[in-house]
Amino acid sequence: MFDVIIVGAGPAGITAAIYAARKKISLLVISKDIGGQAALSGDVENYTGYQFISGPELAFKFEEHLRKFDIGLKENEAVEEIKKINNSIQVKTDKGFYEARAVIVASGKRSRELGVPGEKEFKNHGLTYCATCDGPIFSGKDVAVIGGGNSALDAAIQLIKIANKIHIINITSDFTGDQVMRDIVTANQKITVLHNTQVTAIEGSKAVTEIKIKNGNKEEILPVEGVFVEIGLIPNSEFIKDVEKNKLGEIKVNSYNETSIPGIFAAGDVTDVPEKQIVIAAGEGSKAALTVFRYLIHNQVS
Ligand SMILES: Cc1cc2nc3c(=O)[nH]c(=O)nc-3n(C[C@H](O)[C@H](O)[C@H](O)COP(=O)(O)OP(=O)(O)OC[C@H]3O[C@@H](n4cnc5c(N)ncnc54)[C@H](O)[C@@H]3O)c2cc1C
Repeated sequence: MFDVIIVGAGPAGITAAIYAARKKISLLVISKDIGGQAALSGDVENYTGYQFISGPELAFKFEEHLRKFDIGLKENEAVEEIKKINNSIQVKTDKGFYEARAVIVASGKRSRELGVPGEKEFKNHGLTYCATCDGPIFSGKDVAVIGGGNSALDAAIQLIKIANKIHIINITSDFTGDQVMRDIVTANQKITVLHNTQVTAIEGSKAVTEIKIKNGNKEEILPVEGVFVEIGLIPNSEFIKDVEKNKLGEIKVNSYNETSIPGIFAAGDVTDVPEKQIVIAAGEGSKAALTVFRYLIHNQVS
């Protein structure tokens, strides 16, 4: 029986783990990966103390900090179910079963899928959800970035140095991403922007060769060898059924990171806290760990 199990090792989970370790409570971190979305970010220019750092570099620094402590860490392990039974929180994973007095859910978000023909077939054969990870594969090629928010703009900007031509396909009439990124995208000669345009199919043979797009009644074929799907994120909250969530599936928390179930806490992008940023997730993670510390004392189990 651990004092606390932390699900996820992104900025929120890692920071929660560091704070919990410094309070000397027994803890286990279970995560599919280390770094979370931070490791997928391109250039990070808004994490306090760093005027500029790449996402993978920042994630590495987080990991280094985490590993300074003697923390139980289960990597490459996925949580499948969390349940509270009496005073114990039971965590079932794809590899085992664990118990704790408290749990912090810091499982973040994942990419939303397009849901068009060809998406599944060409995943990793020209179609990807991560410009940071896969961008270099498309050196000198024509590519499409699907989306109009920060993730899409960030992907397009990362691809400027790599791809030959970048088409941004945006279903709405304007971008929703930050003005700084909009300005870069609209000023760059390599980038063409197609607003009010929908992708209806991904096509090719062994790998992607073209996409079908639709603007009103006008259908067109756009030859591209790379497709970056950047249409938003969904919270990784399916494995916890009993807590209250909002209509987006984000776990509802109060300012102490408490969920609707005593003993279950949540932090970072998986919660309904507005704005999804590394610095916010890290701050929420620290807050959650401090609340857990107090919870354990009040429940006389520490
Ligand atoms: C392309 C891109 C660029 C970005 N750029 C910036 C930027 O410049 N500045 C900025 O501040 N923010 C940026 N962000 C947002 C930022 O990365 C996130 O807000 C932040 O990483 C959220 O941290 P988190 O710990 O809550 O979740 P995540 O980073 O999503 O981490 C979640 C963790 O939980 C694990 N996990 C998920 N499900 C399970 C499960 N079932 N079992 C076990 N483990 C699980 C994951 O493997 C991961 O380790 C960017 C995001 C993206 C995608």
